[in-house]
Amino acid sequence: MKIPIDIKTGSVKKETETKDIIVGIDLGTTNSLVAIIEDGIPSVIKDESGSEVLMPSVLFFNDDGKIITGLEAKKQLIDHPARTIKSVKRLMGKSYADVKDFTTGTAYEIIDSGTDQLVKIKMDDNFYTPVELSAEILKSLKSRAEKYIGSKISRAVITVPAYFNDTQRQATRDAGKLAGLDVLRIINEPTAASLAYGIGLNMDQNEIVAVYDLGGGTFDISVLHIENGIFEVLSTQGDTDLGGDDIDNDILQHWVSKNKGLSEKIVDFSLYGKLLFMAEEAKIHLSHHDLYAATLTIDFQLTLTKAEFYIICKKWVDKTIKACESAIRDAKISVKDIHKVILVGGSTRNPYVKQRLTEFFGMTPHDEMNPDEAVALGAAIQADILAGNRKDMLLLDVAPLSLGIETVGGLMDVIIPRNSKIPHKAGRQYTTSVDGQKNLKISVFQGERDLVVNNRKLGEFILKDIPPMPAGLPKIDIHFLIDADGILTVKAKELRSDTEARIEINASFGISEEKMAEMLLDSIQHAKEDADQKALIESTVEAQNVLLATDKFLIQNQDIMTETESEKIRELKSLVENAIEQKNKNLIESGLKNLNDFAAPIAQRSMDSLISFSLKGKSLENTSDQKS
Ligand code: ADP
Ligand code: MG
Repeated sequence: MKIPIDIKTGSVKKETETKDIIVGIDLGTTNSLVAIIEDGIPSVIKDESGSEVLMPSVLFFNDDGKIITGLEAKKQLIDHPARTIKSVKRLMGKSYADVKDFTTGTAYEIIDSGTDQLVKIKMDDNFYTPVELSAEILKSLKSRAEKYIGSKISRAVITVPAYFNDTQRQATRDAGKLAGLDVLRIINEPTAASLAYGIGLNMDQNEIVAVYDLGGGTFDISVLHIENGIFEVLSTQGDTDLGGDDIDNDILQHWVSKNKGLSEKIVDFSLYGKLLFMAEEAKIHLSHHDLYAATLTIDFQLTLTKAEFYIICKKWVDKTIKACESAIRDAKISVKDIHKVILVGGSTRNPYVKQRLTEFFGMTPHDEMNPDEAVALGAAIQADILAGNRKDMLLLDVAPLSLGIETVGGLMDVIIPRNSKIPHKAGRQYTTSVDGQKNLKISVFQGERDLVVNNRKLGEFILKDIPPMPAGLPKIDIHFLIDADGILTVKAKELRSDTEARIEINASFGISEEKMAEMLLDSIQHAKEDADQKALIESTVEAQNVLLATDKFLIQNQDIMTETESEKIRELKSLVENAIEQKNKNLIESGLKNLNDFAAPIAQRSMDSLISFSLKGKSLENTSDQKS
């Protein structure tokens, strides 16, 4: 089979595909949307009923273990909060340490492995990663679009907040792949919103634009400079814990303080949930009316006036304006340098928000589009550009396949994602997995599969003479640079000792376009099995680290433990060992959780500061043969 590949976009052109449609997806914290270009006009795709544009980013696990997404899932928040997951985007690419502060309010269980490992969510006996959960949302959007278009969709552009780091962006790509989508590009939400307003489509434009995005649970303001169709983020500020949800909560509190006896009533979880729904309803109602009045139960008639509502909003909007001030400062401009202000996010429908922003920026912000649709529409425009449908737009050279290195367990760690514009540089830090490790082998691969065996090896080199240190302590910076001719330079440097090594590779040498296309297709077709294998390897590696740490722990804390306690730890340890042997991911995870739960209080009791119950950071494959 000969598969043509589009080198500019790095995408596969399947000959069987009748319509060459690439969708644009806004994978939001609260709501997600999918959009396409139809007859040259961007439009969002509605659900099957033909009424809803937004798909709540909510997942519900029913008793049969089936995952339900969207509006149906959102409704379950009232009666089954512990089986319903919202705002999974907050967890993308995050370790438990990162999310500690905002997980107190969630009814579902987030697993604290006590390490730098990425978070997982426990539901029944299964452990899910945020990537898997986001993939479910993407699958629903994909199928919504397929039903509408009447043919399969395989390619997408997905948006992320401007402040998303490399790991969070990669997690979003992985979610797309798992949903069966070839993610052609990840673009910033404010960039997408600007595109939706036609900004950046004209090559002669030179403008500074402020994009104010107030969603359900997050706020961000980005200042962009757009010149010759190139978007540069001058600054971005925000609060990942500020949004429409806070206003809902305050409305609820307002009612509780105004209505005697209500606070005792709402200890009932489902009544509380209902009240919260009404608070959101009141907020939305007051965008167009002056009074909200409704019945909670026969005892409680609730009202909210516009004046009361604005008082509630003030405190939150004040905060966002402070952030705007500092974004402008960071961008080293002043308010009057801004040419346009764009409103994004459902919460900017609130007239109070518009009023305050008009005052602050000294101009009327753009709100001609639905603020909750602008990002998805812009993603669709970007998709259309990539599809080559806009002949006037210039396409930049890109890296056609991802470039990365092998980490412990034979996993591919992508450093330069496919479709990155070239020249491009990127880097990440790693550490060792064995005490006293002196040499480190760095193997460089190209491809989209999760296991390096399925990718193409470009070369390897050894970082020699690292001074002996305990595992996990060395800081090894690995830096990739791909120049305009496709020449890749990989540098490795141990930062504590300044030890350094490098390699230069011609990344496009000896690979045909057909082969690249085949590799891409394979990665989509094997996405599920790859992800499962990867998850098993990651759990196994983590478990092996914990087992090693447990052995040290048992020795170091002999004196402060009773015989029963150490016996129990050994028993829990052997359960983990069995689970590893059985290659059962969920069993490993629950074994680790039990071991951790049991050992944590003992660790607290011990004065020994050496207890790091597991190794920190991603480590590279141990090259025991290289040790000297
Ligand atoms: P996200 O980007 O976080 O996924 P959205 O942009 O979809 O979120 O915004 C969702 C938020 O917008 C919710 O808090 C919702 O209550 C709020 N919202 C929607 N419509 C209105 C309205 N008319 N007035 C005020 N808030 C609104
Ligand atoms: Mg959004």
